Amino acid sequence: MDFNNTEIAFKDKDNRSLKKAYWLFRMLASPLLVKIGSLSLRLAMWLRIPVSWALKPTVFDHFCGGENIEACEPVIRKLGASNVQTILDYSAEGGEHEADLDYTMSQIIATIDKAAAEKNIPYAVFKPTGVARFGLLEKVQSSELLNDSEKAEFEKAKKRFETISAYAAEKDVPVMIDSEESWIQGVVDGLVEELMFKFNKSKPLVFNTLQMYRHDRLAYLENFIAKARGKGVFSAFKLVRGAYMEKERERARKMGYASPIYPDKDATDKAFNDATILCLVNLNDTAVCIGTHNEDSCSKAIEYICAEKIDRNHAHISFAQLLGMSDHISYNLAAAGYNVCKYVPYGPVKTVIPYLIRRAEENTSVAGQTTRELFLLRKELQRRRS
Ligand SMILES: Cc1cc2nc3c(=O)[nH]c(=O)nc-3n(C[C@H](O)[C@H](O)[C@H](O)COP(=O)(O)OP(=O)(O)OC[C@H]3O[C@@H](n4cnc5c(N)ncnc54)[C@H](O)[C@@H]3O)c2cc1C
Repeated sequence: MDFNNTEIAFKDKDNRSLKKAYWLFRMLASPLLVKIGSLSLRLAMWLRIPVSWALKPTVFDHFCGGENIEACEPVIRKLGASNVQTILDYSAEGGEHEADLDYTMSQIIATIDKAAAEKNIPYAVFKPTGVARFGLLEKVQSSELLNDSEKAEFEKAKKRFETISAYAAEKDVPVMIDSEESWIQGVVDGLVEELMFKFNKSKPLVFNTLQMYRHDRLAYLENFIAKARGKGVFSAFKLVRGAYMEKERERARKMGYASPIYPDKDATDKAFNDATILCLVNLNDTAVCIGTHNEDSCSKAIEYICAEKIDRNHAHISFAQLLGMSDHISYNLAAAGYNVCKYVPYGPVKTVIPYLIRRAEENTSVAGQTTRELFLLRKELQRRRS
């Protein structure tokens, strides 16, 4: 697999958008600029200063599909023309009020409807804190006593998970549930496991997400596959490395417990690759979405798929990247016949700001990622000039 083929990678970008992406990554490559930008954005959000005018034509347009599902149409069509599929991701997180959480649920239901009607959208997705209050999940996980109103609130949160999954099952649209910080993920795992046992009887419908930077996840995966098999249900996982490393380590240090994160990147990489192979070995009753921008991890998965003569477009295997990142992986994989999706976040600009800040910080902190994007964009610009 040649991930360096920039002609394929950027074939749906005209020169103007190629140059725009290049300058955006140049800015993201500056830790100082990103730091100032993130701080200013957080401050603007807090002071309720409108910032859409600055974000919309720049980072928003690059990393998001639009402000609503309809506005994402051109992106869905463009990706689909290159056999890259879309996962619509309503990017609200950290909702505090029941009305916000209900609204997010209604958006997720709308994405399921959209997926059911559109061949280029194979999955729906949601983030647990879009439909359940973070503080409540934290309280449940730490076994704190809930008062009556919190008990009722938790029942409502559980009901939202159930309603979404039941609707996904009715519409035959598999749904992926994102993973979050370890101090709420335990309670999320419990909820998702129940849903997997209920809805994954005839096919993999509900997917949990495993953050492989956590040193307990490989054993969790192995145990879950065995447990699900014992119950005669499909396992289904999106594998990622994990987005909250600094936060996890900081909390563990402050509160004096052992960090749940591997001590170094090599150990995380090994765990991610081992988890991928473990899912592929168990493909008969296990579905996997390989969610990464790491070329080596994609190559290792491909090597195994080829060596074992597994169909490239096996229904239980897909790769996924985020919109605006690693097009060289998505487009080259799709051109070679693999199932590939882009997470396409959408929502009003102000709702999506926390997601955009994470993308900006990630692109600055992930060693090599921005350099790689810049190298490939420059290579394609040069190729077109010659
Ligand atoms: C489709 C998709 C869905 C996603 N969904 C989620 C989700 O639900 N939940 C979530 O948390 N994240 C999610 N992410 C983000 C993901 O967890 C990673 O943060 C991001 O993809 C970068 O990892 P990578 O494998 O792409 O690339 P790489 O650049 O190879 O890996 C970077 C990652 O390695 C890990 N790492 C870096 N340095 C160290 C170190 N010193 N020690 C240990 N580990 C280290 C960190 O996890 C870091 O993010 C998703 C990503 C994608 C592509």
